Amino acid sequence: MAATISQEQYLPESIVATFPDQYTKEYWDRVSRGELAFQRCAQCKTFRHPPGPMCPNCASFESEWHTVEGKGTIYSWEIVTLALNDALADYVPFNIVLVEFPDAPGVRLVTNCIDSAKEDLSIGMPVEVVYQKYSKVTLPRVKKA
Ligand code: ZN
Repeated sequence: MAATISQEQYLPESIVATFPDQYTKEYWDRVSRGELAFQRCAQCKTFRHPPGPMCPNCASFESEWHTVEGKGTIYSWEIVTLALNDALADYVPFNIVLVEFPDAPGVRLVTNCIDSAKEDLSIGMPVEVVYQKYSKVTLPRVKKA
């Protein structure tokens, strides 16, 4: 029997893990506070995600964080129907979406849309960020706007 996909925790706790390093810790710390911010170059303002040490545009090592409003659109999406991890066996089918944000051009966030069946998903669909808390991590996900 399929598990009910929860709007509080879209996928089970057992598969959720993040591994913050010196470049990504700030991102995850901000997400845990309910803030979605992306790293961008302090020189040429080019966004990059995931965060990293150097600007791919101008090679600067100077960076800054830019908080987005949290409203975006679906760039692409897919439905996962085959559980490659046993912990997901009861959760298929579920969606994976790529979300773009007008206030962070070039960023595409990989996440899940918590309130949409596959019939509802479409490219260009407006979404907004929600934060789902697990025992050790908070994840940014989206719902229909
Ligand atoms: Zn740059």
